[in-house]
Amino acid sequence: MQILNGKETALTIREELKVEIDGLKAKHGRAPGLAVILVGEDPASQVYVRNKEIACEKAGIVSTAHRIDASVSQEELEALIQKLNADETIDGILLQLPLPKGLDSQRCLELIDPGKDVDGFHPMNVGKLMLGLPGFRSCTPAGIITLLERYNLPTSGKKAVVVGRSNIVGKPLAMMLMQYGDFANATVTVCHSRTDNLAEEVKAADFVFAAIGIPKFIKKEMVKNGAVVVDVGINRTDEGLVGDCDYAALEDVASAMTPVPGGVGPMTIAQLLINTVQAYKEHVGA
Ligand code: NDP
Repeated sequence: MQILNGKETALTIREELKVEIDGLKAKHGRAPGLAVILVGEDPASQVYVRNKEIACEKAGIVSTAHRIDASVSQEELEALIQKLNADETIDGILLQLPLPKGLDSQRCLELIDPGKDVDGFHPMNVGKLMLGLPGFRSCTPAGIITLLERYNLPTSGKKAVVVGRSNIVGKPLAMMLMQYGDFANATVTVCHSRTDNLAEEVKAADFVFAAIGIPKFIKKEMVKNGAVVVDVGINRTDEGLVGDCDYAALEDVASAMTPVPGGVGPMTIAQLLINTVQAYKEHVGA
């Protein structure tokens, strides 16, 4: 079985971006800027934000974290977003989710300038994805497609099953897989908690994408021989970080698979950097 090493691929992408950013900086006089808003003390979010900051720094993107107390009001948070929208040194704005209770995340996401929406959550960018128009794509699914490209595993003409229909992973991933292109053009089935015969649906797939949030949910007997398996899940268990797929058992049937950790997670961050550089280029006219 081929291991789809997201960690290594993300590192390569970061190094490529660093070279590109150095050139862009010399030409346009400033580095790309990313503003990250973190509200409250959620430990997982703090780790994600720190990892994003480190990745930005290494690639030459100026990342400014706004760490805000959970007691912030909706109005104050919206005022910060507006300020960042107007700041010409900021190319991307990322609002780390989930927000503490009482804050309206959808309202905040819709306030972010779509041209700075490097997370691809603004309805304008979601709509552009649906229409197949250029725009910012949600980082986790876009990072997955980038990983497939890097390993030259085209999905064109293949059966793909996406298990999970969240707005940040399952739905946009399914939408990306059904667009035109070599790493799209798939025949896509989306499964969720109400799917009848989920095991059968998964078994029919050449590509399995698991974004469920249940440790080892996808078992060996559910997967077709030779399928490519992409495990999005990050579950904290007594065994440590575990994906949504039974990795050890699937090694016998899958032809290629992402590990957890070291698979989709690092690709999500790499894609955030790609999106930030895309935003920067649009802003400076590169
Ligand atoms: P959500 O909880 O938003 O969505 C989970 C999806 O799984 C839902 O669509 C749900 O169905 C479906 N589901 C739940 N239980 C079952 C079941 N028994 N059978 C079939 N489907 C089921 O999760 P996310 O999409 O946000 O995240 C999924 C996983 O990916 C999590 O482990 C998360 O931590 C991880 N993740 C990893 C990222 C990375 O960078 N690697 C980024 C984002 C998430 P229904 O809609 O019917 O409820």
